[in-house]
Amino acid sequence: MSDVKAVRGTHDLIGEDQRRHNHIIQTARHITSLYGFEEWVTPVFEETRVFARSLGDTSDIVSKEMYSFEDRGGDSLTLRPEGTAGICRALVTNSLTQSLPQKAFYAGPMFRYERPQKGRYRQFYQIGAELLGVDVPFADAEIIAMGYDILKALGLADDVVLELNTLGDAKSRQAWREALIAYFKAVKDKLSSDSQNRLERNPLRILDSKSPEDRALLADAPSLENFMTEEARTFWDQLRKALDHFKIPFKTNPFIVRGLDYYNHTVFEFVTTKLGAQGTVLAGGRYDGLVAEMGGPAVPAIGWASGVERLSLLLEKVPEVSKPVVVIALSAIAQPMAFEVLQNLRHHNIHSEIIYKGNPRKQMEKANKLGAPIAIIIGEEEVQQQQVQLKNLHLGDQKAVALEQIVSQIKMMTAK
Ligand code: ATP
Ligand code: MG
Repeated sequence: MSDVKAVRGTHDLIGEDQRRHNHIIQTARHITSLYGFEEWVTPVFEETRVFARSLGDTSDIVSKEMYSFEDRGGDSLTLRPEGTAGICRALVTNSLTQSLPQKAFYAGPMFRYERPQKGRYRQFYQIGAELLGVDVPFADAEIIAMGYDILKALGLADDVVLELNTLGDAKSRQAWREALIAYFKAVKDKLSSDSQNRLERNPLRILDSKSPEDRALLADAPSLENFMTEEARTFWDQLRKALDHFKIPFKTNPFIVRGLDYYNHTVFEFVTTKLGAQGTVLAGGRYDGLVAEMGGPAVPAIGWASGVERLSLLLEKVPEVSKPVVVIALSAIAQPMAFEVLQNLRHHNIHSEIIYKGNPRKQMEKANKLGAPIAIIIGEEEVQQQQVQLKNLHLGDQKAVALEQIVSQIKMMTAK
């Protein structure tokens, strides 16, 4: 097999990369558990219609980014491009709509056929959380607080700004949508061709457009503000109040939207200026209509998702691996005792490794290269005496220690 290479847009997680990655997921797992979330693991592929339904035909993901294929049985399947659809599908197919609320955390790979660049890959990882079955604005604030707590625990709170918007309820949205269509229709020729296509089907998405022609027209576009029902206004007020109580700073941004009909009320994004165009690190919103779309009952829901690779790019402190205690057997006769010592150390939760090969000098060099604080040296004489030489590699001193004293000695020497 010649010239094998990793598939474009994929990457391996090894060494420091995986340590960062793991640290992010562990941190999220911990923080979400403090809020009562439990991890759900759903398949990495689903029936294509699960995503087509949840994301809508006109979303970028469905129209051009999905990895869909027919399996040998002729079913159309898709590698999941995001986590929410699978969680909602699982809620319905496991009949959990009978026992609400449910609080789901997930972490895992997602797949999108995109143009790879920094912070944008074809296989990437997301962490995410969904709170299913709660419709009060306080819950939205809590979910945002949970995302913020994770960013804080990762040391990223100062790198991000929380941008917040409301989409109102269905009634407010409908009226606003019609006003947007009327406004953009009048200036249709000036819109980008993408937006011209979206105009009737998904006018909200134009607000989110990155093309300069479109952006020039946004300032005068009708704002939702003028179409909000009393109910939607109250929800929006209560959300912002709750965020103040949680002491979470935010900036309202009327241009954050989601194009799909089942999104309502809250939308938010934590953004950074440190990753160029890939500035959104954690994004979410309320989607009270989605579970019904999946064939379940009406279940109000709110959630967010965050790209692990983007968090990883921002992470300044890299978690380190612990330094091993190294065991050196000076000859073949010493090896059985070396194994016994290693086994004993590991059973006492002490990270220890043996140097497999080389003369004593080479072995000691390798121990230093590993950054080992302590070497345990075993020669023939040590075997006879049932003891070892314990060498402090930082200070250079060495002493004989009886086998049964090794663990306590090491614990003493490495105590901080
Ligand atoms: P963008 O506008 O950057 O394309 P998006 O709206 O497609 O983002 P979401 O579907 O909301 O992103 O996904 C949530 C998060 O997942 C994003 O904020 C980002 O951190 C991450 N993400 C999305 N697509 C990718 C990708 N291709 N590679 C790496 N991370 C991604
Ligand atoms: Mg995208």
